[in-house]
Amino acid sequence: MKPKVFVTRPLPSPALELLSSGCQVRTFPKDEAIPVSQLSEECRDVEGILVNSARVNEEVLRAAPKLRAISNCGVGYDNINVEACNRRGIPITNTAGSLEETTADLAFALLLATARRAIEADRYVREGRWDRWQWGLLHGLDVHHKTLGLLGFGGIGQPMARRGRGFSMRILYFARHRVADSIERELHAQYADLETVLRESDFLSLHVPLTPETHHVIDGNTLSLMKKTAIIVNTARGPVVDEKALVEALKSRKIAGAGLDVFEGEPHINPELLGLDNVVMAPHIGSATAETRLNMAMLAVRNLLEILAGQRPRSVVNPEIYS
Ligand code: NAP
Repeated sequence: MKPKVFVTRPLPSPALELLSSGCQVRTFPKDEAIPVSQLSEECRDVEGILVNSARVNEEVLRAAPKLRAISNCGVGYDNINVEACNRRGIPITNTAGSLEETTADLAFALLLATARRAIEADRYVREGRWDRWQWGLLHGLDVHHKTLGLLGFGGIGQPMARRGRGFSMRILYFARHRVADSIERELHAQYADLETVLRESDFLSLHVPLTPETHHVIDGNTLSLMKKTAIIVNTARGPVVDEKALVEALKSRKIAGAGLDVFEGEPHINPELLGLDNVVMAPHIGSATAETRLNMAMLAVRNLLEILAGQRPRSVVNPEIYS
């Protein structure tokens, strides 16, 4: 008998076909986060779940006595209670390796769009306000040869550094651990403490996971260390930034701008952000290209099939359960 699995959002057809070849599949039919109570109900008899931004908390785990595999379709897994899974010995996988370059593309697009006021410029032309070349029209900030600070220097932070090097930028990074010398040399990246990165960056791009340690790591205090001309880019997770403090810093021009793909209460946006010209916003589309979304779905399916077959996939995020 094929194991029963539940999928929290409709999958692209090739991924669904692959999953169906090894499992009995039930899918939440809507392209939205399934409520916890409904997920608990759906998980009563399943051995695996393929999760896409649904919350897997203790309530869901309690309701699913047969559960032995969780495949998260995404790199960030702050939606899953890892400790509770560890207590049950349930492996969790993510889709590391499938979306980093694509997300770095979006982060760099937000950086450029904010620095060069691309959205304001587009609006200006569309609204028919452009009547002549003007010396002082829509001045932005140079990107090339500036300092790009990276908070987090893993799967997305490193491709971001590569993009920065393409613009002749100086690269500074902070993470809890230094990467290998060879990577620092290849990317011309210099390790620095957080305060130095904040003080010296012209552009600060966030690439840390959301954890208790990184929650509000950017707040009123850390923002006050940044240059008045600095731009912050967040494609990590909304709560990494204290959004109230960010709004305050943007309104009072303590920093110059922000490019945001993620928000503290998304999809609800702080109304004050909507009124600010020095912010460019996107609706959490870091990995949103057709190729990458398909790659993510295929990898998430392969991960689920491997766990259910008793194998250990490469992208297990809680390897401690195997020891
Ligand atoms: P990753 O490969 O796991 O890299 C995370 C980096 O953050 C590592 O350098 C890690 O280094 C550092 N880090 C972790 N905890 C830290 C802490 N407390 N203080 C300082 N640095 C810390 O992850 P990634 O692939 O780059 O992705 C980063 C995040 O981006 C994901 O977790 C996800 O939330 C988000 N994301 C968003 C989108 C989107 O659509 N907008 C798409 C993909 C991912 P150390 O362990 O040495 O500290």
